[in-house]
Amino acid sequence: MNTVLLGTTDPELEEAARLLKSGEVVGIPTETVYGLAANAFNAEAVKKIFAAKGRPCDNPLIVHISSMDMIGDIASQVPEAAIKCAKRFWPGPLTMIMPKSDKIPLVTSGGLDTVGIRFPSNPVARRIIELCGFPLAAPSANLSGSPSPTNASRVMEDMNGRIAAIVDGGESDVGVESTVISFEGNAIRLLRPGKISVELLRTVCDEVLVDRGVTDKLAEGVIVRSPGMKYKHYAPKANVVLVDSDLDSYKEYVASNAVQGDYCLLFDESEKIPGVPYLTYGLSSEAQAHCLFERLRQFDELGAKTVYTRCPSQNGVGLAVYNRILRSAGFNLVRLK
Ligand code: AMP
Ligand code: MG
Repeated sequence: MNTVLLGTTDPELEEAARLLKSGEVVGIPTETVYGLAANAFNAEAVKKIFAAKGRPCDNPLIVHISSMDMIGDIASQVPEAAIKCAKRFWPGPLTMIMPKSDKIPLVTSGGLDTVGIRFPSNPVARRIIELCGFPLAAPSANLSGSPSPTNASRVMEDMNGRIAAIVDGGESDVGVESTVISFEGNAIRLLRPGKISVELLRTVCDEVLVDRGVTDKLAEGVIVRSPGMKYKHYAPKANVVLVDSDLDSYKEYVASNAVQGDYCLLFDESEKIPGVPYLTYGLSSEAQAHCLFERLRQFDELGAKTVYTRCPSQNGVGLAVYNRILRSAGFNLVRLK
């Protein structure tokens, strides 16, 4: 299959919608990361997403909408807290889990009786959904297990020949995937951290529970609330070593462990260690979220063997950055304090 690269002019977005209407898969920009989209109501089209990614069939897809009216066909029941969150955070990088309607095939929901719904703020994503007239199931546009792509050329790297087209809408703004939440009585449960932080969720709901799977490795066989939690994720080819320590101990640890071919992922260059090459990803959590996946892919291009990095702040979107690095490190945290 020839994968066509499309821009964002009207005729090009109409072409993307035409392909989606005919049951094809198209890579689309969103404010979080790029997505691999197909008609969420069409089981055959959705199966092509799983095939293109090599994604396990029990890992559900998020369903993307372009207006609140679309929810009625997707969810069989909308919790009151979800309406509050929608008013506050949609359109935006928040996915809410609800009981699914019969119109959503089990392929889309990974066999679950619930469905994750998101109303993206990215204007290109919204326009494509509008032109289609149906919601788009869209996971991140990477091969399963790899870091999510935050620009069209990274999508092409993973998906060339596997999908019909990619719409190039520039760099993703946020850089990490959406916040995923579910509802339990009056409480919100955070299943995956993202830009809509625990602190922000607490402004609409008194009780926000952070699922253990966000920061802890779940034991084999444990039933997970969000199937994506059990899979290895965001992993570059390099071995990622996440160090929890102050700067001096980190420098000492890296200086005595790093060998030829190893790198550091630093907040900024003032932390550099003589003789150890590095990339930086920013001082603020927002900058770190924006750059993280691109840096992980750059380490692959550099042929990095081991990447040493220090725990980032866990406040705001920082919890999402920490969660993604912890997973890319296979939950191996070196504690030096
Ligand atoms: P991705 O599309 O690659 O960002 O992955 C979507 C994530 O959302 C997966 O890791 C799922 O675990 C989670 N998710 C989607 N739908 C559901 C659902 N119905 N219940 C629980 N988690 C979900
Ligand atoms: Mg993903």
